[in-house]
Amino acid sequence: AKREGRNNFQYYTVQMNATSWQRLKLETELRQALARNEFELHYQPKVDMDCNKIVGMEALLRWQSAERGLVTPAEFIPLLEETGLILPVGEWVLREACKQARAWQDAGIPDVHIAVNLSSLQFRQPDFAGSVLKIMQEHGLDPAMNGIELELTESLLLDNVARTIDTLNTLHEAGIRFSIDDFGTGYSSLSYLKRFPISSLKIDQSFVQDLSSNRDDESIVSAIIALGRSLGLSVIAEGVETAEQSAQLRRMGCDGMQGYLFSRPVPVAEMTYLLQNSANL
Ligand code: C2E
Ligand code: CA
Ligand code: CA
Ligand code: CA
Repeated sequence: AKREGRNNFQYYTVQMNATSWQRLKLETELRQALARNEFELHYQPKVDMDCNKIVGMEALLRWQSAERGLVTPAEFIPLLEETGLILPVGEWVLREACKQARAWQDAGIPDVHIAVNLSSLQFRQPDFAGSVLKIMQEHGLDPAMNGIELELTESLLLDNVARTIDTLNTLHEAGIRFSIDDFGTGYSSLSYLKRFPISSLKIDQSFVQDLSSNRDDESIVSAIIALGRSLGLSVIAEGVETAEQSAQLRRMGCDGMQGYLFSRPVPVAEMTYLLQNSANL
């Protein structure tokens, strides 16, 4: 029995080592990915509820790995956050989005609004507001004119509220807009909503999925829409996949939608095509 135990222990250790080895390997690859410029942004249109026109887009990070192929964020964002690599990668995302906004403007495409996702580590950096404004300036973007929008989560907003309000106000005064991502899944931030300079709420896709069959989801979605309306915020539904969902959200008074029904996140060339043909999706 003693021997068996020892063998089990050894087996366990080998397993642990395999896991930490894989993590280390992924971390090393992610560091190289940044140096080798293997990250890219894909863009998913945000569509206006009334006219089905593209009114903005969300930038979503992708990793084009020689070894692994196209990797989506769920597989690497957690490790980026644990290792702090999210800081240089997040800055790359912001620069890339600004570079693209500049390029689209130079190509004569007006009113491009690109929403960028922020991790809380990034937001907590000293003088985060100053560094965002600097990056925009470097790309010749006037924050008041050219829409860079930042998507924040509820948990990010509620961690150190006083400092959050400070950072948000500095950026808001310069013209940057904010939306709350995955709204409804985090802590209840209702009392703070009116203290933050937020312009929109994004209803999490988990509430949209079974909207037509689940009464609870329907109640939550209408409550969010009513809340948004009374606070003067626009409300965007995420993860809209069916015409049925879209029709119901329209009836409920939602302002905008995002989802596979209109377009998946697409590489820059396809997004340019959609914008140039000012596509009604
Ligand atoms: P998110 O911000 O909630 O982004 C929405 C996710 O839903 C995206 O997944 C998008 O591709 C997916 N999606 C869009 N429409 C539909 C639909 O109709 N049906 C379904 N099932 N899914 C849809 P993605 O691109 O894999 O990103 C996952 C998460 O990774 C994002 O969730 C965001 O939290 C994070 N992320 C992505 N890019 C960045 C980034 O640049 N920085 C940071 N910090 N996080 C990022
Ligand atoms: Ca988002
Ligand atoms: Ca979301
Ligand atoms: Ca999400």
